[in-house]
Amino acid sequence: MANKHFIPYKIKMQVLKRDNFTCQKCGFFGATTDLEVHHIKPKISGGKDEVENLVTLCSICYYYAPESEKDFKIYLDEKIDGTLLDTFRKSQKLISKRTKTGMAKKFQEGNVITRAPLGYKIKDKKLIPAEHSYVVQEIYQDFLDNDISLTQLAKKYGLSVNGLKKVLTNYTYLGKIKFDGQIIQGKHHPLISSTLFNQVQEKLKRVLRK
Ligand SMILES: [Zn+2]
Repeated sequence: MANKHFIPYKIKMQVLKRDNFTCQKCGFFGATTDLEVHHIKPKISGGKDEVENLVTLCSICYYYAPESEKDFKIYLDEKIDGTLLDTFRKSQKLISKRTKTGMAKKFQEGNVITRAPLGYKIKDKKLIPAEHSYVVQEIYQDFLDNDISLTQLAKKYGLSVNGLKKVLTNYTYLGKIKFDGQIIQGKHHPLISSTLFNQVQEKLKRVLRK
């Protein structure tokens, strides 16, 4: 098992460039995110985060790299054909994708939701419409139909201008959630139709540009 210590990005890049972004065991050529740098002399034995003490490995060769310097040198000398590992590379990606799907599912089930936006409340760790949920629709419609400034509108509903902007741009009201940088369908009830939501985004863009 490799020693997984944090290495400053700048040093990692220097090592990757020196090694031509190629795993020094199997010859795999990859992107920065597919490659790791391994300490030849482990940190526990006084090895430093220096370019001379680091070597580029792909994530698979990195995973199996022995800790000790002596064993590692033998390991590194035993070159293998990187294409033989391609099948593992694919399944490795699948595994991380599968884990993410599982997490997204949990997320959708509402396990991680800690704060309810205006119009919702949390019950049994799930997001459900609150008694006053109609107010969200009202704010959206009011903003769309009337020539009223954000400040006035915020005041009318007892919100700060920033709070109002958050309400007007919150995709939670579409029944969606943000997960892993993506917006995906959640399990909670939407409060706003996508047509109204999109119209409001358009108008909001125009208003904020002024
Ligand atoms: Zn490799």
